[in-house]
Amino acid sequence: MQPDFRQMENKNEFRIPVSGLALGNHTYRFEIKDDFFAGLEYSEIQQGNVTVRLDVEREETMMTLKFGIKGEVRVQCDRCADEFDLPIEDERVFFIKLGDENAEESEDVAVVSADQADFDVSSLIYEFIILAIPMHRVHPEGKCNPEIMALLLSDQNNEEDIDDSNEIDPRWAALKDLKLNDK
Ligand SMILES: [Zn+2]
Repeated sequence: MQPDFRQMENKNEFRIPVSGLALGNHTYRFEIKDDFFAGLEYSEIQQGNVTVRLDVEREETMMTLKFGIKGEVRVQCDRCADEFDLPIEDERVFFIKLGDENAEESEDVAVVSADQADFDVSSLIYEFIILAIPMHRVHPEGKCNPEIMALLLSDQNNEEDIDDSNEIDPRWAALKDLKLNDK
């Protein structure tokens, strides 16, 4: 009995064909939504809207996968701790070597049997999205939560006051208070 290929595709939409893939160029497009991240228990990202364009060049013993990543992911701002949608855009290349059991795998090379039916790119897509997110994640200038920023600012000032009173000669502190009262 022939497997129902459409059903298989639905079951795992992130599999690209290997053994049955004709030599030449092929393009795939994946729409990554919240459910993609929700399906990964370990995901630090829970929400996002990312389009992944995958260009595959199939050669006799090699497949070159070019991922173009563009969209937004929901992250927490390092400055005000509010969540916001961070735009991301990146390109990554990955290689699949076919059938060469002695070939070495590495970060950007996988080795699979030439008669393997398909290859799941979902973990690569996840990895490349994460790599596209900068270490420092902050709102565009001026877009931070104003209430939190005001609190942070007053916290900083309070800390300075405490430090001052611990260190400064009380006579100077008195002068400083006078100055403040003048304002
Ligand atoms: Zn912020």
